[in-house]
Amino acid sequence: MVTLSLVVIWPAAEAAAQRTTATGSGGAVATESPVATGAAVGVLRNGGNAVDAAVAAASTLGVSDPLVAGIGGGGYFVYYDAHTHRVYTIDGREMAPAADGPDLFIDPITGEPLDFPTAVTSGLSVGVPGNLMTWAVALRRWGKHSLASDLQPAERTASGGYKLDSAVREEIRENAFRFKQFGSSSSLFLPGGRLPAVGTIMKDPDLAATYKEIGRDGVGALYGGPIGADVVGAIHALPLARDATLVPRPGAMSLSDLAAYRAPVKAPTHVNYRGLDVYGMGPSSSGGSTVGESLNIMGDFNLSHETRAQALYHYLEATRLAFADRNRYVGDAAFVKVPLRQLLSKGFAKTRACLINPTHALKSPVAPGDPFKEQSNCSLKTTRAAQPSDATSTNELVVADKQGDVVSYTNTIEELGGSGIVVPGRGFLLNNELTDFDFAPLQKGVPDPNLPAAGKRPRSSMSPTIVLKDHRPFLAVGAAGGSTIITSVVQILMNRIDLGMTLPEAMAAPRASQRNSDPTQAEPAFLRLASTAGLEKLGEKFAIDDTSPLDPKIKIAPTIGWAAGLELLSGGRMQAVGEPKSRNGGGAAGVVKQSG
Ligand code: GLU
Repeated sequence: MVTLSLVVIWPAAEAAAQRTTATGSGGAVATESPVATGAAVGVLRNGGNAVDAAVAAASTLGVSDPLVAGIGGGGYFVYYDAHTHRVYTIDGREMAPAADGPDLFIDPITGEPLDFPTAVTSGLSVGVPGNLMTWAVALRRWGKHSLASDLQPAERTASGGYKLDSAVREEIRENAFRFKQFGSSSSLFLPGGRLPAVGTIMKDPDLAATYKEIGRDGVGALYGGPIGADVVGAIHALPLARDATLVPRPGAMSLSDLAAYRAPVKAPTHVNYRGLDVYGMGPSSSGGSTVGESLNIMGDFNLSHETRAQALYHYLEATRLAFADRNRYVGDAAFVKVPLRQLLSKGFAKTRACLINPTHALKSPVAPGDPFKEQSNCSLKTTRAAQPSDATSTNELVVADKQGDVVSYTNTIEELGGSGIVVPGRGFLLNNELTDFDFAPLQKGVPDPNLPAAGKRPRSSMSPTIVLKDHRPFLAVGAAGGSTIITSVVQILMNRIDLGMTLPEAMAAPRASQRNSDPTQAEPAFLRLASTAGLEKLGEKFAIDDTSPLDPKIKIAPTIGWAAGLELLSGGRMQAVGEPKSRNGGGAAGVVKQSG
């Protein structure tokens, strides 16, 4: 790493305008917030590379999108290095504290699993955060600037404030009841006890000071130092408001859990799809294996020559089957034997693809296949296993620089608003990532790869993806949305690669998500597509989901996922693409030099 002492010029112009697609050269960025995209473009303009820009964007998102990002959470960083022409990944997933065991979410009195909302808003759900360590590891290996320098835009946003937009305000509204439980959370997000109006300048001086301290003292300030001590304090003695009505459970994280945390660099997953090399995130995420297996199954059909309904049918049936295998076989590979090579083999995909009935949709839950046996007589089984459900909020950011380095980074604090707990005096929310574990075995007598254990990372669906064409970067995509992340990424890749859509069209297209349970979740716009009647004739059934996983009384937008992507075009041109405005207000795309 070359450490430059540099003053980042605040990119006010980029921050002001929200473009959902930007085409140009010199570097490209897409995130979910104009402020974060502006910060990353500013870093690229000031000589930083894609890794520096990704760190600037992620840390700024911790300020401007605090309910889905920040140093209280974790994520997965996928990186194409233009020097070595290789793809690397960093596993920055949260880890269960050493004192946790398989009964983490079992009520000691009833012996039954806790209900999901009780588990989320608690100290029990907080995993050792991984984002800050991810940034340090990425910068040490591939960055040009120092962490202190890359944190500057975030620090300035936290002290100067950001303008509250309707999307973040809506997120605060959905969390208002939980935030009122904690004094530190309500004073940050509900100033004066009220939901702030759109356009309010939201400042977080505690977070500005936290970033400054990290810039000065290094990541040890969190991983074993004074910031870590405050995190542990907030998890043990929850900062409850005087008029709190909930009695949340404390957690067991210790300072030594923080000191022991590592974010290892790991090999990516890889499949070849229609001649393209698709790289993703391996365990502890199920993203790379499930996206890869789905694509392998779809590879048995010639989607570009099929009707739209047939192509979508093969997409839905492929993810239905791949999710059965994900749920049965994928967990943290440091704790369970994950048959990754087999799950990603073309031979195994054939044993799954042959189960797809050309005239009638399968009925879920379908049973997992046997990846250890590549021959199969193609007989379909069903299962009694419960299907895990995941919640939906995260952020994805993509960056390319002028040297040709590319980052696809998905990170999260899990639920919208995480555990609901802001660390007092530190200005950031703590995750509830440990609720991504299965609380109890999904089926009696069948091993469950995703049960809690000390030091284990809960299985994720995050799927940051980089696609190479002829050994050069072609696409970078990823999405938010719990387990729908996997299907959103597969659908976007299919739209772009098989269905002839441009990347902006591929991302804007209405989504449907089949995850081995019926009915298939769909966006309202998907139900209006002409092809949907064809899918219904094939036996597919659809439903819209517009209820909050935390409280069925709270209605949420019935959209699926939240994606970001970029495409490397010919002649050094690049296109960054955020969500269209119709999907929760849209994303923010930027390029260093605009053209067209
Ligand atoms: N916790 C989820 C996962 O790792 C991501 C959060 C979300 O997007 O909902 O799969």
